[in-house]
Amino acid sequence: MRSDVVVVVGAGLQGCGVALRLAQAGRDVVVLERSIPGAEASSAAGGILSPGVEAEPGPFYHLCEQSLARWRSFAEEVERLSGTWIGFRAGGTLEVSLDDRFTPVLAGRATQLARAGLDVEVLDGEAARRLEPGLSPETRGALYFPTEASVDPRLLGRALHAAAARAGARFVQGQVRGIALEGGRATGVDHESGRIDAGAVVLAAGAWSMQVEGNGLPAGAVRPVRGQIAVLDTRPPLLSRVIFSDKGYVVPRPDGRVLCGSTMEEAGFEKAVTAGGLLRVLELAVEVAPGLAAAPVVETWSNFRPATPDGLPILGPGRDGGLFYATGHYRNGVLLTPITADAVSAAVLGRSTPVDLAPFGPARLAPRGPPR
Ligand SMILES: Cc1cc2nc3c(=O)[nH]c(=O)nc-3n(C[C@H](O)[C@H](O)[C@H](O)COP(=O)(O)OP(=O)(O)OC[C@H]3O[C@@H](n4cnc5c(N)ncnc54)[C@H](O)[C@@H]3O)c2cc1C
Repeated sequence: MRSDVVVVVGAGLQGCGVALRLAQAGRDVVVLERSIPGAEASSAAGGILSPGVEAEPGPFYHLCEQSLARWRSFAEEVERLSGTWIGFRAGGTLEVSLDDRFTPVLAGRATQLARAGLDVEVLDGEAARRLEPGLSPETRGALYFPTEASVDPRLLGRALHAAAARAGARFVQGQVRGIALEGGRATGVDHESGRIDAGAVVLAAGAWSMQVEGNGLPAGAVRPVRGQIAVLDTRPPLLSRVIFSDKGYVVPRPDGRVLCGSTMEEAGFEKAVTAGGLLRVLELAVEVAPGLAAAPVVETWSNFRPATPDGLPILGPGRDGGLFYATGHYRNGVLLTPITADAVSAAVLGRSTPVDLAPFGPARLAPRGPPR
């Protein structure tokens, strides 16, 4: 007899979000996490919620937009369920140009985005500095995305874990070695404590997804891309919204901390903060807002984005019955948490998904083979 249990492998934002929705739908959910829930990429992120800067118009932009549209109510729900504030901050994001070379690039993007119906305003340098007085006097112009926002991913990770647990998801510590497959169907997992039977398995192991045997993905489908972040402390707060330049971004928190990020490095799983990495993120931050030069560095870290060959997430059902994916979120896993939770849980429950998951299915990555 098939088990009714749904096993989720990994308790980052994706695993916890999907588990929350499945538990709310009355399913028996077990989340298996080898470390501390939320402690990997999910707590290393800047927490930027920005479809405009990250995506060109198309199915991926639509996915990002659908997720952004959910964010305010998702934040309220998670805060209510967990009793924890998660630092959701509206007010828009700015993409600035600090030199004459980047200004026409921004103008071209603005035209393209506006043509596709995206909410974007073009500001001259003065208008951008009126919005953010801490910006460099060198600011030539900016794109302003008024509906975009940010959140504190560390607070979010804790809160989403608590919310899922309160909704009834069971969290079990320990490593998953592999997914058990019988007759082309996932029937459970091989966990360090032994075999756990399941009617469905959701792979949400982030950058480590390929290390789970039986993952059903072609070689190289998910790889780690390291990102480094330095945190500065400004008192009183110098900035109030996320600012991008062509080199990176700064993410101010309401308490005055400013996250400066981030590098994009093919460094395997070497979790290191390097001199070169810090140099790059600090240089970009001071270029964007020169007042940051006087701010103390209070923290640094690095972690691994789960990247895919085409930069899109892997979502929904795979070739093997009962095996579902919530992985490969690369640079946008925080932004995509609400839509991933809704869409992947709907796929597991056999319901229609709120967005078409076909462009994000694992089949797009697979070399064509004989059907099984
Ligand atoms: C520096 C940096 C900045 C970023 N900034 C942003 C941003 O501003 N906005 C944004 O939207 N996104 C951002 N991202 C991307 C975002 O952090 C990720 O896309 C997202 O966190 C991925 O979530 P996840 O749950 O898939 O992965 P993770 O949080 O890494 O979770 C995967 C979990 O699976 C567990 N696991 C792995 N293998 C096993 C196993 N075999 N058994 C049991 N457990 C296992 C791990 O321990 C881990 O807890 C950033 C990422 C980085 C690194």
